Amino acid sequence: SSRVVIIGAGIVGTNVADELVQRGWTNITVLDQGPLDMPGGSTSHAPGLVFQTNASKTMSLFAKYTVQKLLSLDCFNQVGGLEVATTEARYEDLKRKLGYAQSWGIEARLVDAAECKRIYPLLNEEIVLGGLHIPSDGLALAARSVQLLIERTREAGVVYLGSTPVTGVEHDGGRVTGVQTPGGVIPADIVISCAGFWGVEVGAMVGMQIPLLPLAHQYVKTGPVPELKGRNELPNGATLPILRHQDQDLYYREHGERYGIGSYAHRPMPVVAADLGLTPKHVDEHNMPSRLDFTFEDFAEPWEASKEILPGLREAEIEDGFNGIFSFTPDGGPIVGQSRDVEGFYVAEAVWVTHSAGVARAVAQLLTDGASEIDLGECDVDRFEDVQLAPSYVSETSQQNFVEIYDVLHPLQPKESPRNLRVSPFNARHRELGGYFLEGAGWERPYWFEANAALLDELPAEWQPPARDSWSARYSSPIAAVEAWKTRTAVAMYDMTPLKRLEISGPGAVALLQRLTTGDVAKKPGAVTYCLLLNDHGGIRSDITVARLDEETFQVGANGNIDLAYFTREARRQRAEDPTQWAQVRDITGGTCCIGLWGPLAREVVSAISSDDFSNDGLRYFRAKKATIGGVPVTVMRLSYVGELGWEIYTTADNGQRLWDVLWAAGQPHGIVAAGRAAFSALRLEKGYRSWGTDMTTEHDPYESGLGFAVKTAKESFVGKSAIEGWTEDTPGRRLRCLTVDDGRSMVLGKEPVFYKDEPVGYVTSAAYGYSIGKPIAYAYLPSTVTEGDAVEIEYFGARVRATVTPEPLFDPEMKRLRG
Ligand code: FAD
Repeated sequence: SSRVVIIGAGIVGTNVADELVQRGWTNITVLDQGPLDMPGGSTSHAPGLVFQTNASKTMSLFAKYTVQKLLSLDCFNQVGGLEVATTEARYEDLKRKLGYAQSWGIEARLVDAAECKRIYPLLNEEIVLGGLHIPSDGLALAARSVQLLIERTREAGVVYLGSTPVTGVEHDGGRVTGVQTPGGVIPADIVISCAGFWGVEVGAMVGMQIPLLPLAHQYVKTGPVPELKGRNELPNGATLPILRHQDQDLYYREHGERYGIGSYAHRPMPVVAADLGLTPKHVDEHNMPSRLDFTFEDFAEPWEASKEILPGLREAEIEDGFNGIFSFTPDGGPIVGQSRDVEGFYVAEAVWVTHSAGVARAVAQLLTDGASEIDLGECDVDRFEDVQLAPSYVSETSQQNFVEIYDVLHPLQPKESPRNLRVSPFNARHRELGGYFLEGAGWERPYWFEANAALLDELPAEWQPPARDSWSARYSSPIAAVEAWKTRTAVAMYDMTPLKRLEISGPGAVALLQRLTTGDVAKKPGAVTYCLLLNDHGGIRSDITVARLDEETFQVGANGNIDLAYFTREARRQRAEDPTQWAQVRDITGGTCCIGLWGPLAREVVSAISSDDFSNDGLRYFRAKKATIGGVPVTVMRLSYVGELGWEIYTTADNGQRLWDVLWAAGQPHGIVAAGRAAFSALRLEKGYRSWGTDMTTEHDPYESGLGFAVKTAKESFVGKSAIEGWTEDTPGRRLRCLTVDDGRSMVLGKEPVFYKDEPVGYVTSAAYGYSIGKPIAYAYLPSTVTEGDAVEIEYFGARVRATVTPEPLFDPEMKRLRG
């Protein structure tokens, strides 16, 4: 079998070895620069608190699996978890968190202050408003589980080499071939870097920029606490739930009669792993590279706050403390996957103990089956844009994530800094129109335009949106209603520039796209095809539009860098197999721009400034052609995510501002407006258009997500075809359904649990207010037994919102507008 080398024998590396062994892999070597009994990485001092509930489904499922696995190893003390609120805002947030738990299938309950006190008698009831209790949370015995995993995988033949630093990674012809150590080269077909916060250094060995930042985080152990005396037999024993006091950035566990206290309530303390020097031959609890000296001054305030929430601590001293190092990333997610450029080099880094076994299983599944059962979109090493890999960006955003780790964050809340990293050519005009910008993938994206506030007075009564609750009102504006109304009744311009665009060209382009997509793209130039990229299990890895511009050139509208990496890798493989079938994959997003010109009057606008034929016969729905508009050379595609007549109009970045200006001027007689993403998101949902990453991921197949129409089963073969053989619209056990909110005004935002007959049966993927239909809309995965017309309830901040499963799309199901 393939020779596998795993770098790092922490909780991640040993779990990866174990998961591979379980899947029949035999030729595995694990190396660690530190001694195996205590390698000295983050795992060696991790207190092991496992709070499973997370806004991310992926992370919650990883945590659930970790708990399950650690229990099976007898390495989990399931004391439960309690997150307490001492502020109203936190208490509200715990309600939202309860929703996540219900959505992702974790048993949890919201408890009042008295119940918190009953569960946790040492708490200061006076300052606690309530809490979230999760009985299945608890303490991982991380270091012990590492030793057990080493033992059991060794028995299965895994070779472990301690005190063996990897000093280089060898590769040849774009494939990894081995690792260098002081004792010589160890040949390998697959190298998996589980180097924790040393990931940057190991990544650099293959020219990879790993976007993680090692930061120190304070952990102290108190001396004996009188109130804990006699509670636990073992020095590390614990019987009370693990406790989070997030309003003060603190968490707690018992160590026998002592307390362990973790604090994020201090300045970020970045570390460069390379500066820590070589791991010594002898490592012990007090002497390891991941442990820096305690800076007491940073703990003064947290110590006072600790005595406040746990008054018993007033009779205790701080006995030991350290600043322990682990990894932070720009978006808080782990970094998992294969190098784009060096085949066979994988990483699994910036992983908490909490998620370790889950991540390890995903890596083993990737290697064994080609895909993980849990979606990896939020962890994919390829998810970052180049600008997000810059060390300054990684450093600033990772430090920001440290600071905000326990903050109550709104799902739309943007970074305050760094901003203005990427702007479209229309940015100057957007600013003149009072654009309200949020950030995504480094782009400044207007959500609405203050200039349109002037039209609020003209907004017809039936288009008036209801008042929102204070949470859903954040990062929202009634101006979006104006922009939606104008799109449906006149014409609007949308900046589509930030959407990822790839050019795939060359003699092998058709073959590449035919093999990787579910659609038939081998049509005449000018055809545009909506299709899916499936993984080997039939899960949806992306949805794309493929425009054939000429025989050998395609423009692909994709979802992000993960798609770019996929196409790049597959094109390289195709070329290696048959050099005549080469295809070049080029990211043209930054060098081009796009305006979505949509609305019933769109045709009037372009025909005033173009002699090209924009009539229905001149350019039909889902067709593309080159044209000139107002003197600007463009490629137009007759597509619309908002469900109106119109075109995506592309040009190069240099021509962008002029394109905006000529369309803007020509649109004036027709009441044109600039419109932002807030209106866009609502209009696309009215049309039932799915958004990859929320409405469907690799965990969903084309049929349950309602995208079966995009699968050309007649095509001879494509990736994922054999997996979905025989599946139809009738096979899935769950389905993505359209819900409308009965009261016409209660908003939800996404990820909320959905109840049917009082049982949690699914969760909301996307939600928006449907301006054209006068009701909030939510899409949700529900069991297939829940059908159109059924009444369901969505839980929003602990309250139930009644909704009805409704036939979709809600707007223009006959497609009259698009085809008109
Ligand atoms: P590590 O354990 O660091 O393992 C990486 C290994 O790679 C190391 O042993 C290192 O020696 C080896 N290595 C690196 N470079 C090389 C090389 N070139 N050659 C050979 N070997 C190499 N997480 C939780 O879930 N719950 C908690 O309560 C918790 N508390 C924490 C408290 C503190 C104070 C700290 C610092 C972290 C805490 N964490 C917690 C985070 C958690 O400890 C880490 O995320 C986790 O242990 C990382 O595991 P790992 O296997 O990726 O990394």
